[in-house]
Amino acid sequence: MYMPPDEDCNKEPDYEELTPDQRRLAERMVAAGGLLLPENAEAAVRAGFCCEYCGTNMLGSVDVYAGWHWDHIVPKSKKGSNGLANKALACGPCNYIKGKYNPRRFAGPDATRKELIEVAKAEIIRRRARKQRDYIDRYLQVLREHESAGSEPTLTQNVNSPGPLLACA
Ligand SMILES: [Zn+2]
Repeated sequence: MYMPPDEDCNKEPDYEELTPDQRRLAERMVAAGGLLLPENAEAAVRAGFCCEYCGTNMLGSVDVYAGWHWDHIVPKSKKGSNGLANKALACGPCNYIKGKYNPRRFAGPDATRKELIEVAKAEIIRRRARKQRDYIDRYLQVLREHESAGSEPTLTQNVNSPGPLLACA
């Protein structure tokens, strides 16, 4: 695996220029009111209003809209900037899972913004699977064992049937 020297790990991603049509759309989004700052509107249009890591439609619902995150592709802790080139629209879970991961370190100093996103995306998929296995699957196993040991089945329904597993409502 290529490991660039430290000074190359915080190199700014290349800037992806918006097309004139995308720029008009960003301006209209800001003019429509709400809380979208001009620079964030450009980043959101560039992202197609989708999480740049998992593809979630960030205008899909109020719940998703409430969880917009601006990920720093090269983390701020690695001297990544607050500039548009270094920002990626992300859903909360992807931003949380990516954490301080720096794709530049693995993609190399010459990787484009798109390549950095691809490297981060692959890492997020790996980490997501690991969290599923290490936390969610483990907790569900404990719940199943707890119930099969004779405790009240108040927490889970039939784990083999579709539908809500947890009685959260
Ligand atoms: Zn996401």
